[in-house]
Amino acid sequence: MFRKLREKLKTFTDKASRELEGMEEGLEEKKIPKKMEKEKRKEAKKEKKKKKPSKREPTKKTVKKDVPGEEELFAEGRIGKKLREGRLEDLLWELEMALLESDVALPVVEKIKTNVKKDLLGRKVKRGINIESAVETSLKNAITDVLTQNPVDFDIFVKSHEKPVVLMFVGVNGTGKTTVIAKIVHRLQREKISCVIAAADTFRAGAIEQLQKHSERLGVKLIKHQAGADPAAVAFDAIEHAKARHKDVVLIDTAGRMHSNINLMDEMKKIKRVAPPHMIIFVGDALSGNDTIIQAKRFDETVGIDCAVLTKIDADAKGGAALSIAHAVGKPIAFVGVGQGYDDLITFNPRWMVNRLFGEDT
Ligand code: GDP
Ligand code: GDP
Repeated sequence: MFRKLREKLKTFTDKASRELEGMEEGLEEKKIPKKMEKEKRKEAKKEKKKKKPSKREPTKKTVKKDVPGEEELFAEGRIGKKLREGRLEDLLWELEMALLESDVALPVVEKIKTNVKKDLLGRKVKRGINIESAVETSLKNAITDVLTQNPVDFDIFVKSHEKPVVLMFVGVNGTGKTTVIAKIVHRLQREKISCVIAAADTFRAGAIEQLQKHSERLGVKLIKHQAGADPAAVAFDAIEHAKARHKDVVLIDTAGRMHSNINLMDEMKKIKRVAPPHMIIFVGDALSGNDTIIQAKRFDETVGIDCAVLTKIDADAKGGAALSIAHAVGKPIAFVGVGQGYDDLITFNPRWMVNRLFGEDT
C-alpha cells in the first residue's frame, strides 16, 4: 500500500538531503576565504603592533588568546548546515508536484509545504545529525499534522455510549459500504457487543441481498423492508428492534448512488431526523482519490459526518485520499479497509500511516 507515494517521498528526501549536503560544502568554501582574509588582516595588525616596541611584549600564549583560533572562528560554519530559501523553494516545488501526482488535495499539499518550509528554513542542522533524517523528520511531522484531526476512538465511543448506539453509514455505492458494515459488526461481535443492521438502502435490491448474505454469515439480525420502501422507516424499525431486544449497536446502511442527487441527499436528512444517529460514518474508496474528498465534503455539508472509513487501502499505491481527507474535510479517519475479509479493518492513526510511508512496514 502507498507504494508510489512512499517512492516519491523517498525521492524527495534523498534529493533534498543530497542538495543540502552540497550546499554545506559551498557554504564553507565561501566562508573560509572571507574569514581567512579577516584573520590575515588581524594577524597583520598584530604583527605591526608587535614590531613597535612595547612594554608588554605578548607571549605566544596571549597572542593565541587575543586572536581567536580557527576552531572558534569557524564554529558557526562548521556546526550548521543552513538552508537557503531560494533552493528550498525549488525543492518544495518538486515536493508539491510529487504530492499532486499522488492525488493529494491542493490545500493539503499547501499545508505540508508550509510546515516543511517553516521547519527547514534557516535551520541549522548540527554536525553529527544526518541531514537525511532531518528532512525526513520534517516531512513526517508535516504529514502527521495533516492527518491529525480530533481523533475518534470508535471502541471507547461505542462502549461508553448509552445503548443502543446508532451508527449511520453514508457514501457512494461500490465504495465498500456494505463490506465495512459487515467488518464493523464482526469487530463488535468479537467484543461481545450485539448488533442489528438496517437495510435502509431500499433503492437497490442488490444492496438488501448483499446485506442479507453478510448477516447470515455473521449471524446478525437484519431489519429490511421491500425494495422501494421508505429508508427512514427501516432505520426507525431497526432502532425499535434494538430497544426491544436490548441490542447494543444499530448499523444503518444508506443509499448513495449519486452524491450529487438532491433527492437522495434529502432522503439522508430524513433518515437522520427519524432515526437520529450518534455517529455518521462516511465510507470512501481510497482508489478514487480526489473524488472521494469531494464526496466526503458533499455528505458532510448535507448530513454532517463524524469520521471516515477509507476502503481498498490494500490496493492503493497513490495514498492521496488517505493523506488528504482528514485535513480537507476536517474529520478524522476512523478505520481503513485493507482487504475483502471481515478481519481486514484496521483502526487508523496518523502514526500507522507515517510508519507505512517511511518505515520498512508496508
Ligand atoms: P458497496 O456497494 O459500497 O456496499 O460496496 P461493497 O461493500 O459491495 O464493496 C464493493 C467491492 O469492494 C466488493 O467486491 C468488496 O469485496 C470490495 N472491497 C470492499 N472493501 C475492500 C477493501 O478494503 N479492500 C479490497 N481489496 N476490496 C474491498
Ligand atoms: P436515475 O434516472 O435512475 O439516475 O435516477 P434519478 O436521479 O432520476 O432518481 C429517481 C429517484 O430515485 C429520485 O427520487 C432519487 O432521489 C431516487 N434515488 C436515486 N438513487 C437512489 C438510491 O440510490 N437510493 C434511493 N433510495 N433512492 C434513489
